[in-house]
Amino acid sequence: MIKKVNHIAVVVSDLQASMRFWVDALGLELSHTEHVASQAVDVAFLPVGDSKIELLQPIDDESGVARYLEKRGPGMHHLCLEVDDIVATLARLKGAEVQLINEEPVIGSDGRKFAFIHPKSANGVLVELYELTEE
Ligand code: ZN
Repeated sequence: MIKKVNHIAVVVSDLQASMRFWVDALGLELSHTEHVASQAVDVAFLPVGDSKIELLQPIDDESGVARYLEKRGPGMHHLCLEVDDIVATLARLKGAEVQLINEEPVIGSDGRKFAFIHPKSANGVLVELYELTEE
């Protein structure tokens, strides 16, 4: 079951500069920033109701996010849907011949499980699936 939109991720070239729109002009609140070494990004978390907007700034030239920024410029990177059972969801998608980037869930440092669906199968949108562990 799909529970909700967990977050929408936007790639930016400069987190501080991007705050002028998202925080100062639009009025969202910055909850915190995080350095995610495995993806080579700094992430700013901006809660919106039950979901959040995540601003991603690449910190090297090699990561997937860095290449995305170089090719396409800043913009929406992916949409993340929270599911109750990621293994079952991936199995169902495989059965429907949906192209997956991660056939098996990846375990994050905080224990949450995630996997990406290929944009080719999702109308050009990179879709991330999250299964959160109980907090
Ligand atoms: Zn994400």
